[in-house]
Amino acid sequence: MPDRTKKILVIGAGLCGLAIAVTAARRGFDVACAGDGRRGASLANFGQLHSGAVLAPVLPDVAQACWHHRNEWPDELLRPAQVGKPCGYALFNTAEAVDRYRTAWQHIGIDVEEINPGHPALAATRPPAAAFRVPDFSVDLDILHARLTALARDSGVSSLPRRQVRLHRDPETGMVTVGDDGGRRDLIVLTAGADIPDMLAQAGVAHTLRQRRIAWGRHAEIRPTALTYWLDGDLLAISPDRADARIGLPSINGEYGTNEVEYARMRTALVRRGLHSSDAELRLQWGVVCEPATALADLTSFVADLRDPPTGWSRVLNLLVAVPGKWTTAWHCAERVVSYLEEED
Ligand SMILES: Cc1cc2nc3c(=O)[nH]c(=O)nc-3n(C[C@H](O)[C@H](O)[C@H](O)COP(=O)(O)OP(=O)(O)OC[C@H]3O[C@@H](n4cnc5c(N)ncnc54)[C@H](O)[C@@H]3O)c2cc1C
Repeated sequence: MPDRTKKILVIGAGLCGLAIAVTAARRGFDVACAGDGRRGASLANFGQLHSGAVLAPVLPDVAQACWHHRNEWPDELLRPAQVGKPCGYALFNTAEAVDRYRTAWQHIGIDVEEINPGHPALAATRPPAAAFRVPDFSVDLDILHARLTALARDSGVSSLPRRQVRLHRDPETGMVTVGDDGGRRDLIVLTAGADIPDMLAQAGVAHTLRQRRIAWGRHAEIRPTALTYWLDGDLLAISPDRADARIGLPSINGEYGTNEVEYARMRTALVRRGLHSSDAELRLQWGVVCEPATALADLTSFVADLRDPPTGWSRVLNLLVAVPGKWTTAWHCAERVVSYLEEED
């Protein structure tokens, strides 16, 4: 029987940290969550609930996880946060890549429907060579996060005063502590997003995570009614938000360039589609993700249990590290963490 008297501290109150805290509290653990009030990736991303369609041929495992686990988001959290139509569109500039995507969608079983490229819903953009309706949609992240925070409170998760927690590793006991967190904690779950590598390094804990910067943008003049992806071009996606649109840019060989380079790429892609008229309305943003550095690691729902550490990680007797990869799969990540918590020591 798992020891339900264990006290758990979750560090990081983003969508993943909160989902872990809720799942653990519902399974009978005594859980506290420590956040620092900053807007991590959960409050500054494209806001796309992924079906996996856009990732299918490129990152099939991530696509599969999105398709299988996105339904774990409770409807009462997701629906009030929805912005724009409940479906999105995937467009192709040329027919070249279509078969590759179609095969990948069929392989995973993602519910994608081909539509006429002249469909009225696509009237705002240059007609594509091929178009598909995908079951993806955009959300208002502030609403989603506020609802999940309320659910955590209602599920019995106690929240510690807002502050930046620092991890200390005691070489004698092989445990980490966070100083005064209001009581004894048997296990700590670190879900501090892009700050995880620095926090582990400061505590002297070896790991195999890395940070990666992602350029994206906001355009105040574009008001799309549905999430639209371009799957073979110079633009990744335009996602509706409450007051503007979020613009996603594809990386070049996994990398992004300088501010000037990325702003120019974004501007050119929008001009090409007749969507950009004023530079004053376009703002470049940078996001940072934390992800496993090793090719074999699970890019979605990565969990390291340092009581029995994976290769390249230090042993720590009371620490788990969780990286969801996508907020779409946060509940899957939470389930994995809690299954570790439930294992016998
Ligand atoms: C540009 C961009 C676009 C993306 N688009 C999508 C998308 O459309 N769909 C999708 O599913 N996923 C998307 N993602 C991925 C998704 O945003 C992340 O996987 C997810 O939000 C990570 O959640 P998290 O809770 O682990 O981390 P975060 O949301 O980063 O939360 C971590 C929290 O911990 C806090 N923290 C850090 N250090 C400390 C400390 N010392 N003490 C206390 N608190 C601390 C941070 O301030 C933050 O509030 C995108 C990511 C980026 C960067």
